[in-house]
Formats: sequence, C-alpha cells, structure tokens
Amino acid sequence: MGKIVFFGECMVELSQQEDGLLKQSFAGDVFNSAVYLARTFTQVDVSLMTAVGSDSYSEKMLQYFADESIGCEFVYSSKTKSAGLYAIKTDDAGERSFTYWRSDSAAREIMSHVAPADVGRLSKQKMFFFSGISLAVIKPSERDKFWHMVETLRQVGVTLVFDPNYRARLWQSEQEAKQQIERALNICQIALPGIDDFSKLYGIESTDDLVEFLTNFDIEEVVIKNGSQNVVSVQRGTIQECAVVPVLNVVDTTSAGDGFNGVYLGARLQGKTCEEAISFASSAAGFVVQRKGAIVEKESYDSFVTNFDLKSASSSIS
Ligand code: ADP
Repeated sequence: MGKIVFFGECMVELSQQEDGLLKQSFAGDVFNSAVYLARTFTQVDVSLMTAVGSDSYSEKMLQYFADESIGCEFVYSSKTKSAGLYAIKTDDAGERSFTYWRSDSAAREIMSHVAPADVGRLSKQKMFFFSGISLAVIKPSERDKFWHMVETLRQVGVTLVFDPNYRARLWQSEQEAKQQIERALNICQIALPGIDDFSKLYGIESTDDLVEFLTNFDIEEVVIKNGSQNVVSVQRGTIQECAVVPVLNVVDTTSAGDGFNGVYLGARLQGKTCEEAISFASSAAGFVVQRKGAIVEKESYDSFVTNFDLKSASSSIS
C-alpha cells in the first residue's frame, strides 16, 4: 500500500525540437512531482490518482507510470474520453509558449470513477497531495464529491498537502479560483506555494506579505518558493529562511516547483527536518532547471541523487 498519493492530470506532451519535429513525452504538475519523489526516494511508495483514456497514448502513459515506479491503484480508465494533450514551442529568443487540448480530457471526470472503497484505501495513506491545477481540472459539478473525499481523509489522519499553482486560463473567473484555493488552504496541513501564484491572483509580491496572508489559515507547515530567491518556511509560527544557490545556466524552469515539491515531501516522509528537506529539494530543483523538459533524463538525475550530500548542503540563514 502506498504512502503518498498525488492527485491530478498527466498529459501527453509534444515539444518542438530544433529540426521542427515534435518529441512526445508525458507531464503534468503533480505527476512531475510524483516522478521526482519516486526517483529520489526509491523506498517511498508513490501513487498517482488520475483518469486516463483507452487510447494508445493513454496505454503508453500507463507503461510510463510503471517505468517510473508510480503506483496505479488509483488510476482509472475512461471508455469515452482521451488523455489531455499540450504542445510546447520555443521561439528564437528562447521564450516558450504552450497550447493545450485538455478541456474534455479523461482527467476532468476523475471524481465520477471514485467509489467509497477507493476512499477507504486512500485513508490508509500517509499523505495526499493536490494542487490548484488539480482543482481547476475537476469538473465543477464533481467538486463537492472531491471536497467530501478530502474532508474524510483529513478526519482519518491523512496529511493533506497543497500547492496553489494558479493557472488563470483553467478557471472561469478569479473569484472561482480564489474560492477553491482558499478552501484548500483552509483544510491542508502542509502548503507549498510559489510567490508568483499569489502575485497574479492576490497582488502579493513579497514573501513577508505572503507569510502574513497565510496567517489567515491554520496551516502547520508552509514552504514558500520564489525562483532563485531564498526559500522561506513557517512551521507552527517559526519563520526560517533557507539559502538557494542561484543557478547561472537556467535552461528550462517548467518543473522547478514540481521537482521541489516531490523531493521535499519525500524527504519529510523519510523523517528529514523541514530545513533538511528544503535543502535537498532546492538542490534538486536547481539541477532540474539546468536541463530541458519537465522530467529530466533519468540517468543524469539518478547520478545527481547518488552524489548529493545532504549534510553539507543544509544551510539555514536564520
Ligand atoms: P514554481 O514552479 O513553483 O514557480 P519556482 O520558480 O519558485 O517554482 O522554483 C522552485 C524552486 O526551484 C525554488 O525554490 C528554487 O529552490 C529552485 N530554483 C528555481 N529557479 C532557480 C534558479 N534560477 N537557481 C537556483 N534554484 C532555482
């Protein structure tokens, strides 16, 4: 039985290569986190909770989950819908643009597959992770069922983890996004926000202001990511700043926050302190941004993990 379940959508990814051809892979925010966790901490059981289609890309996706040691006991297959798809194009100046075909994907209907017995199996997990993107993807008519499930998990002692990950185009309005995100902040015990999400939605630009805003919610552990700036954590009221070593050769920041989340949660599940977990997570994210793609090549990532020295990397400023 798994220890952590990541709830969200995995999509088929098409990225344009220099020769104009499209390279096909798979990605999605919570899925990326699951992969980085599973690769970094092979002893932790990691599962994905999602819905895929019955098309050949969905079948390939299931194989990919297995190849990355991601448990599929909460992966449902829709008979009528297909996996979501997105394409990434990089222009001559290095600017990336994304085009999505996900509005009618199988993952939108995930909650229609969830039976009471599944909630019973989820209740045996240690952690349940979801993001603002996971919330936006759930069909509005099925959101009550999702919140009911999450409330049940909280009551039986599963730790709820939330990353607000705000993507304006996935919501009908800012008001709808705020209502759902605040509901999540009200119920989660661990929050892993990035400053940019709150800057877009609430006009909050600084870590201090975000710390202040989050005091409105009763969250045990908050870890605030801010690109190459230092990470700030708040654990039961104690504020700490952890150094980030800025990377000069940034190639692709697509999954910096996702990689950070996966490694952070894996380290916490393995009994590391918040500070140690931040140190490992920001080093891993710093490695990821120097390589192309949401999920970097396995061999090079594995060698990063093997060579990582947690003790010497740990660095708290205050
Ligand atoms: P998000 O995807 O949530 O916006 P961020 O861009 O804030 O994520 O990055 C997440 C983490 O990745 C940061 O907290 C930091 O540890 C690491 N990171 C991101 N950009 C850099 C960088 N330029 N140099 C070093 N580390 C970075």
